[in-house]
Amino acid sequence: LFITLEGGEGVGKSTQARLLVDALRSHGYDVHATREPGGSPAAEALRNLMLFGEAPLSTRAEILAHFAARFDHVDQVIKPALAAGQIVLCDRFTDSTLAYQGYGRSMGDESILSLIRMLDGNLGLQPDRTFLLETPREIARQRLVARKAPTDRYEQADEAFHARVIAGFQTIAGQNAGRIRRVDTSSLSVEDVNSLIVRDILAIR
Ligand code: C5P
Repeated sequence: LFITLEGGEGVGKSTQARLLVDALRSHGYDVHATREPGGSPAAEALRNLMLFGEAPLSTRAEILAHFAARFDHVDQVIKPALAAGQIVLCDRFTDSTLAYQGYGRSMGDESILSLIRMLDGNLGLQPDRTFLLETPREIARQRLVARKAPTDRYEQADEAFHARVIAGFQTIAGQNAGRIRRVDTSSLSVEDVNSLIVRDILAIR
């Protein structure tokens, strides 16, 4: 079972990822928790280049870098873990590339979106379920200010960029309604979001 978590900045994704791993393990499942960009040694090196490198890549180069990292992660980590019977829980996957590089950076340019879809189609696997965590941008922004963690290139981007990313995720969710469950994390407690997600996963299991 391959599960992904998606969403913009400050929606509570990392917290939910942590709680979800604990909950699934307490139900007796063998879980491999991972993240993108990253998740394998080479992909983590590419993550540093993409998020903190001094020279930003052009949009198409950035997409290829994300997929170089993703193919390595899929081939060396995700597929072997699934083959060994583990549940793989991944913090971000191709939907983030569509939302950030496709809708955020490229404003929904169809040739960019089709490049991403073509690469995605060659991965040889798709998430069985994706949870899109959503919260109004103003609430998310306040959480990020309070967090005061070192910011990467994207967290520093302007509000128009983040608005395009959020709208992009909504579009993607609409186009993949069978796979993607939208969860409003601003109207539920952290615990309720967790149990909603756990129930959904146990139902497909
Ligand atoms: O999920 P997390 O906040 O750790 O993501 C790390 C950073 O990478 C975020 O700032 C996110 O916006 C960015 N990112 C990106 N394009 C992707 C995936 C993540 O810009 N395809």
